[in-house]
Amino acid sequence: MLSEKAMAIHRRLCGVYGCPIPYFHSLDPVSELVSSLLSHRTRNAESGRAFKALRARYPDWDAVLAAPTAEIEETIAGVTWPELKAPRIQAVLRAVRERSGGLDLGFLKDLTVPEARAWLEAIPGVGPKTSAAVLSFSVLRMPALPVDSHHHRVAQRTGLIGPKVDVGPAHAILRAQLPADWDAQSLYDYHEVLMLHGQRCCHYRNLACGACAVLDLCPTGQARRPAARAAATRDLGHPAA
Ligand code: SF4
Repeated sequence: MLSEKAMAIHRRLCGVYGCPIPYFHSLDPVSELVSSLLSHRTRNAESGRAFKALRARYPDWDAVLAAPTAEIEETIAGVTWPELKAPRIQAVLRAVRERSGGLDLGFLKDLTVPEARAWLEAIPGVGPKTSAAVLSFSVLRMPALPVDSHHHRVAQRTGLIGPKVDVGPAHAILRAQLPADWDAQSLYDYHEVLMLHGQRCCHYRNLACGACAVLDLCPTGQARRPAARAAATRDLGHPAA
């Protein structure tokens, strides 16, 4: 059953990466929203630099909203597609202000996770990954499960989701495999260990299946075993068996 497999993978990877994983951000939810919008298809270092540049140039998010779009684009130039992200960030901030009366998303804490996600995802340009990131990674610390590209790749290869399930729909499928009463830290840990595993072992290319802690649970790794063994043998200078 997929729930049992998900839990087995989680326990194994928690052993490797060390749960509980410390939170990497303690931003207010609007700041986390901007950070998440910047991070799409962009390395963490670059999106982090762009976020800091916005904070250094403008006193608050109202000032970012009021600034010329070309100036925002120039400030975040290091991210992927700054020409798209600059107007999107301003449009999302404008929608937050119009719908809530200000640039403060602290009220989301009083909603259930599905309600808070629905509120955020009603804003054009905010998808399930961004809404979950705002709820989970910000100081709201709500129990929502984000799925990034690393997490998604490991989930597909281990068979937790099918090969054609896209990142968006994967959020609900993967969340449903986990205990309904899991708290924010548990869901955060689940996301983080799968993400770390994608970054450090289950790479996009050059998969390190031979060193993988969940090889016996993974159909992709099992199918690659002869090739992985041959590669390891070659690396050691022995003829492949
Ligand atoms: S066995 Fe290979 S494909 Fe499966 S999770 Fe591990 S590294 Fe990824």
